[in-house]
Amino acid sequence: MCGIVGYTGFQDAYDIVINGLRRLEYRGYDSAGIVLEDGNNKLEVEKTKGKVDDLVKISEGLKGTSKIGMGHTRWATHGVPSDRNSHPHLSNNNKIALVHNGIIENYDTIKTMLTEKGFTFKSETDTEVLVNLIQYFMDLNSETDFPTAVRYALNEVYGAYAITVMHEDFPGVLVVGRLGSPLAIGIGEKEYFIASDASPFVEFTKEAIYLEEGHMATISLENGVDIRTINDNSKIKPEIQELKLSLEQIEKGGYEHFMLKEIFEQPKSVHDTMRGRLLVDEGVIKMAGIWDHIEKFKNANRIIIIACGTSWHAGLIGEYLIEEYARIPVEVEYASEFRYRNPIITDKDVVIAISQSGETADTMAALKLAKEKGAFIYGICNVVDSSIARITDAGSYTHAGPEIGVASTKAFTAQLTILTLIAFKLGKHNGNLGNADFMSLIAELDAIPKRIEDVLASTNELVQDIAKDFVSTTNFLYLGRGYNYPAALEGALKLKEISYIHAEGYPAAEMKHGPIALIDENMPIVIIAPKKGHYDKIVSNVQEIKARKGKIIAVVNKGDTQVSAMADYVIEIPETSECFSPIVASVPLQLLAYYIAVYRGANVDQPRNLAKSVTVE
Ligand code: GLU
Repeated sequence: MCGIVGYTGFQDAYDIVINGLRRLEYRGYDSAGIVLEDGNNKLEVEKTKGKVDDLVKISEGLKGTSKIGMGHTRWATHGVPSDRNSHPHLSNNNKIALVHNGIIENYDTIKTMLTEKGFTFKSETDTEVLVNLIQYFMDLNSETDFPTAVRYALNEVYGAYAITVMHEDFPGVLVVGRLGSPLAIGIGEKEYFIASDASPFVEFTKEAIYLEEGHMATISLENGVDIRTINDNSKIKPEIQELKLSLEQIEKGGYEHFMLKEIFEQPKSVHDTMRGRLLVDEGVIKMAGIWDHIEKFKNANRIIIIACGTSWHAGLIGEYLIEEYARIPVEVEYASEFRYRNPIITDKDVVIAISQSGETADTMAALKLAKEKGAFIYGICNVVDSSIARITDAGSYTHAGPEIGVASTKAFTAQLTILTLIAFKLGKHNGNLGNADFMSLIAELDAIPKRIEDVLASTNELVQDIAKDFVSTTNFLYLGRGYNYPAALEGALKLKEISYIHAEGYPAAEMKHGPIALIDENMPIVIIAPKKGHYDKIVSNVQEIKARKGKIIAVVNKGDTQVSAMADYVIEIPETSECFSPIVASVPLQLLAYYIAVYRGANVDQPRNLAKSVTVE
């Protein structure tokens, strides 16, 4: 959940670490800290509650003082965000500094053991336990060198971690390790970078090693990168990969926020998701991940989609798509529930995991469980080479490009695009989707990026105006039917996440079973009512709301008259087949959440309490 940056080389480590932390700030942003080795091989630490900007205010004196160091932006799990709980943490002898992403689950037992040995603790974090455990192993035997002590300590802890460690008596050395949280090592000319993802070093090198689960590395200019397994110290040959990331992909490109940039990128990102897969002229969908395992899908008793948050909403739409077009039963589960409820899974099941980051801890654990029980596991991830992408039997990358705004937008529509392709491909193959329908659907899908472009052009200013009227609102309802029921859930989630307004999504027909009690003249209700998709039923629901004086914001098709006549605000989107409407309808809902949050003065890209990649349970 946090961001880690490390550097050793010929450049100013302060600048590299601080700039890197800014790029990783989307991962966690309640505190920040830095440690540098000074000219006398002493460790200089500065850390504070708050953002990287707050860290800069107290640490600028370190600029230009060192060529090796590391930093951290925190997303607190153990202990409130405070100066003391910020990373780096130092060992009792002040010689070892450590930054950590994740959770040490058995920290309490180790803390008790260390306390009995005389160790004291300044913070409430699990991390401080680990750094002292390293000291403990070094104290225990003077022969134990620094990387070995790190390895011993990592063998004692369980949970999830990516760590970087420095030791005053081992100048020029950075030791890293990972289990469950990502870590990349950038390989430059006479310099090495360490980061939670490649964004901090993309302008310096295109070569990187993604550290594997259960591996650690000792990095120094003198000896390069020495990778070992944590459990038995076996030497591992580094696998250097070419980065596809470019600098402009991770910059705001003139937009005020990453979120707005990412909303506007959707015509391109959806197109990129389909590129090379949807070949309309040839009348085929090429998806090697599906095709190479087509028998698994064909013979599946059912497909289980597991995900969290926005990806779970995409999964719900996936259920509608796959059941409608491929006629394979689908169940959608929250990963966190699935893994703990002793689910019945067999080798006849196909489990599809959806995760933007590919690091979501709950989804990862649920997948491992499904794999153990013999299911075929398929991943839909945005981040290439992520942990989920690696453990699945097959999968499809969404190729939406880096998503930095914490509230997901383009990754969601990219996930929907992949699920649509899967549904059509399976349906065509198993004969439930006839050729003529297949051809017309894929032609329509091919034109969806253009539809999104039209929606952005025609609704951006309008939605901005509408948003002004809801700045002080405290509650919202979002309603939709069929494919647009999950789109309503997602619309509500977007608003909650970034504006902190309480919002609920419901299937429109469920309204009368409870939420209708909330409706009065102060309750805005966003209703997604495209022509195709139970329109008549929605009209009745709108009437029910109107009768109770609710304020209606209707998302309708161009030229709509009935719902529009009753609505207080009308947002028009182009007419599509029902299955595509969540993609198109989501765009103005993203804009609505965005502008309301901006008018409320909220930090849109870094909403409070959230983090981009949820690598803890
Ligand atoms: N568990 C650690 C803490 O609460 C690390 C959290 C993080 O990943 O930022 O400090």
